[in-house]
Amino acid sequence: ARATIGLTGLAVMGRNLARNIARQGHTIAVHNRTTEKMTSLVEQFGDEGDFVPTETLEEFVAAIERPRAIVIMVKAGAPTDAVIDELVPLLDPDDIVVDAGNAHYDDTVRREAALAEKDLHFVGMGVSGGEEGALNGPSIMPGGSEHAWERLRPVLTSIAAEVDGTPCTTHVGPGAAGHFVKMVHNGIEYADMQLIAESYDLLRTVGGLEPAEISQVFREWNDGDLESFLIDITADVLAHTDGDTGAPFVDVVRDAAEQKGTGRWTVQSALDLGVPVTGIAEATFARSISGHTEQRAAAAQTFGSDLARVEVDRDTFVDQVRAALYASKVVAYAQGFDQIKAGSEENDWDVDLGDMATIWRGGCIIRAQFLNRIVDAYAERADLPSLLVDPYFADAVRDGLEAWREVVATAARVGVPTPAFASSLAYFDALRRDRLPAALIQGLRDNFGAHTYGRTDREGTFHTLWAGDLSEEDQS
Ligand code: NDP
Repeated sequence: ARATIGLTGLAVMGRNLARNIARQGHTIAVHNRTTEKMTSLVEQFGDEGDFVPTETLEEFVAAIERPRAIVIMVKAGAPTDAVIDELVPLLDPDDIVVDAGNAHYDDTVRREAALAEKDLHFVGMGVSGGEEGALNGPSIMPGGSEHAWERLRPVLTSIAAEVDGTPCTTHVGPGAAGHFVKMVHNGIEYADMQLIAESYDLLRTVGGLEPAEISQVFREWNDGDLESFLIDITADVLAHTDGDTGAPFVDVVRDAAEQKGTGRWTVQSALDLGVPVTGIAEATFARSISGHTEQRAAAAQTFGSDLARVEVDRDTFVDQVRAALYASKVVAYAQGFDQIKAGSEENDWDVDLGDMATIWRGGCIIRAQFLNRIVDAYAERADLPSLLVDPYFADAVRDGLEAWREVVATAARVGVPTPAFASSLAYFDALRRDRLPAALIQGLRDNFGAHTYGRTDREGTFHTLWAGDLSEEDQS
């Protein structure tokens, strides 16, 4: 056995991750169910590092130093279970199996428990950055045991992206913490993209800018506090002209957004945890609305698709949209970090929120300047009740508030849907409100279901005899 690590599953992600590992000077055993993918990798890129080509799982396992570190990078779901089932009988105690696919964290919990019974370590590891990131430096979010992290650390820290000399990986926490955090990362990515899409829509329909001009606006935004990978590629996509028609690329793409499930998982988990991730939820629902083409056609036929016209000053409006985008983004991240905190508390993972912002600064899809501010916020105050109340973000939201309200009001008047902008503003207003109409909801619940309520003026659990003499009982 001479390989430091092994990787099975050499499709786009696995192949690039294996090359990244080899390029960093680690000897890596490579395997794929269909051998051709393995041989073509070694033929094409064998000179990039020290690959140990293996055709069978037996050969593969035998090629790796003990305790073994084996990365699985196959299709999430049943294929991952199939590979684990084949692999486990070939392993020895203390070996480490790493699932680098996009698994649901419940699957990771189940797999870790099953492998623990065989004295094996299982690491659910989130990897973000797409193909390009896998090759040149992704953000890596491993969960699992401390033992597994110590074994994996040299490889992971060397292949991860780096920002200011700090690698974009850390031990997220035990158990399924890594896959949970990767899930929320993807949820935030949904919100980020929806906010960008709403900004584009407003600039085009209300501001009257052409895609190429909007591309320019995003380029300028990318020089300021919105600087991020997604803003950068938005400028690229909007600048692109379709080769066939000469039309802006964005005009020839069908407007039905697809999803693989991580946004949905994030929202499902948030509902279970009782964390309002309204930005992520609206982003997920917005994709789903976009795909309901029959309903959309019927509604368009019934109501028409005309928009009301409002006169706006173009430059002012561009600035207002930028402010609305930034403030809504703060809300989306505040909500996502709340969810990580709640998930961590629920499962005793002890996830360090500042560390998560640190490892998302590079490599991953939501990498952004902005994350440095989040790192600072948690460094200043680890028990921050919400990112929104951190002095820096609070100032940013205060400064942008008037513009944010103006943009949401304009969108409503014109008829441009801005679910993420509007729900983020509603969340902000709800959070800061002194009295919420939840008091009335409690009254209604007590009226129809005797669900009881608390009083503002004294402790206790109360019920009003709604069908009787309207007297109040103290039921505490
Ligand atoms: P795919 O998800 O398309 O998976 C293809 C790989 O899975 C191939 O190596 C295939 O082997 C293998 N496979 C499928 N079924 C089985 C099985 N029953 N037994 C053994 N091997 C099997 O590849 P990707 O590279 O796109 O993604 C890999 C993982 O990484 C997925 O979990 C994905 O969610 C995750 N991921 C992907 C990202 C991306 O940008 N694409 C980003 C981050 C994570 P064979 O060649 O023999 O068919």
